[in-house]
Amino acid sequence: MLALQGDVREHAALLAQLGADVVAVRRPEELATVSGLVIPGGESTVIDKLSRTFGLQQPIRHEIRAGMPVLGTCAGLIMLADTVLDAIDGQQTFGGLDVVVRRNAFGRQTESFEAELDMPALGAEPVRAAFIRGPVVESVGAAATPLGALEDGRIVAVEQGHLIGISFHPEISGETRFHRRFLDHVEARLSERTLLVPAAR
Ligand code: GLN
Repeated sequence: MLALQGDVREHAALLAQLGADVVAVRRPEELATVSGLVIPGGESTVIDKLSRTFGLQQPIRHEIRAGMPVLGTCAGLIMLADTVLDAIDGQQTFGGLDVVVRRNAFGRQTESFEAELDMPALGAEPVRAAFIRGPVVESVGAAATPLGALEDGRIVAVEQGHLIGISFHPEISGETRFHRRFLDHVEARLSERTLLVPAAR
C-alpha cells in the first residue's frame, strides 16, 4: 500500500478484510518487502512529488517493469498512466499502463457522483463506482484493455497484465472485486516465483 498521501486507510482496511498482510510503503526498504502495490486516490501531483522526495519513484518504476502487480485508483490511475493530460508543470508518473488519461475530467469535488457500471470481466453484478474528481481514460494503447466505461462510452477502468487502473473509488462504495483481482495477481506472481526458485533442501 503506497502510503504517501490519499485515502490509504480505507484501502488498507479493505485489503486486510480480504486477508492480505498490509504494509504502509513510504520508503524503498518497505517497497522491497511487498509483493504488490495499491496506489490510492488522493492528489497525483502530491503523490508524485513525495515519491521523488522519498526516493521511491525509480524503485517503483523498476518494480512495475519487473511485473509487480499494482492497483491504482483515481490519483493512483494517473500515477500508472504513461501519458497525462491537464497535468501540472513538471508532473511525472510511474507509468506502465499504455493509456492517456485526463486529470479532473469530471469537474470539481462538488460534482462527485456515483454510477453503476457493467464490467463483465468482474462478473454479472454491476460495479458501484464513486467518482471524486477522477481522471478519464482518453485513449487505450495496444498493450492495455478497457475493463469498463460509463454509459456515454468514456473509459474508466483498464487492465494491462499485472496492472489495474480505475478512475473511481471502489473502497467507498464497498466494492471489493478490484482488490480481489489485484490479490489474485499477487498470488499468481508469488506462485510463479515459487516454481522458479527451487525449494531449499
Ligand atoms: N484530481 C486528483 C488528481 O489529479 C485525483 C482525485 C482523486 O484521487 N480522488 O490527482
